[in-house]
Amino acid sequence: MKRKIRFSFMNRCFSKKYGQGETREEIENTYIRSKAEVGRLTLGGGNTADFERVLGRIVLNAPDRRLNYPGYCAACGCDRNFILTDMFAMDEQLCFRESMICPVCGLNNRQRFMAGEIFKRVNPDKDHVYVYEQTTPFYRVLKARLKYLTGSEYLGDFAPGTVREDGIRHEDAMNLSFPNESFDYAISNDVLEHVADIRRALKEMYRVLKAGGIMMATFPFIWDLDNTVRRAKISDGNIEYLLEPIYHGNPLGGGSLVFYDYGWDFMEFVKSAGFSDAYFVPFYSVMNGHLGRNTLYYFVAVK
Ligand SMILES: [Zn+2]
Repeated sequence: MKRKIRFSFMNRCFSKKYGQGETREEIENTYIRSKAEVGRLTLGGGNTADFERVLGRIVLNAPDRRLNYPGYCAACGCDRNFILTDMFAMDEQLCFRESMICPVCGLNNRQRFMAGEIFKRVNPDKDHVYVYEQTTPFYRVLKARLKYLTGSEYLGDFAPGTVREDGIRHEDAMNLSFPNESFDYAISNDVLEHVADIRRALKEMYRVLKAGGIMMATFPFIWDLDNTVRRAKISDGNIEYLLEPIYHGNPLGGGSLVFYDYGWDFMEFVKSAGFSDAYFVPFYSVMNGHLGRNTLYYFVAVK
């Protein structure tokens, strides 16, 4: 309780001293289409960096290594106390992107923002939305609001479109079962780094979107990398490791192999799949609990 009070006070002081005008504590309507525009991703001044460092020090010195961070949850539609922990912390630097979890809806920092953006863009009674997950808090948040939502997981050796007894649908991002032009939106959260062939996955996404349909995605992206690095590939049905294998957590358990570290040629992959416009949308907000300088963004492509 003590920590919470101290932090609320600090949050207020920060807003006052470094509020809008002096340091941009929010990013809005900034679209990044090329490497040359990446500078715009960095927030003005060093104040947000200081703020994140101070928060890191508090969390890492707290007995339970966590902190309640007040803010507005766009997924819940009200104020919550997000839980900032030391998960994935490295060299005294917190991993804000995966943390700051809402205790009620269960979404983390980037997922809360994505949910908010989806609710801003999507017509909940009319638009058909496909999301590349079905067993997650994120799916449940969307399901509660959107009338025409389809979710799926990669379950392994099933025919695409198979629905298991527990209602979980199997889809392979590289071979979707949906007819052409089925969806207004296709949404993927940290999935695309795990597909074995990104060009095929993007072509499939393009195929199932209606004309004017929109892809919204998050995935790890390396801002100063020109050419995507392929970490693994499938040859003759077997996984061939080109680099030391890296695995990310999977909602169904186990780990998902990372096939790609994406760089700027990702734009070319997207365009050659047929998409017309493509851009990154960075975000940052002290007041809404979206911290993590230069790590917060999502990707949009328009059919
Ligand atoms: Zn929430």
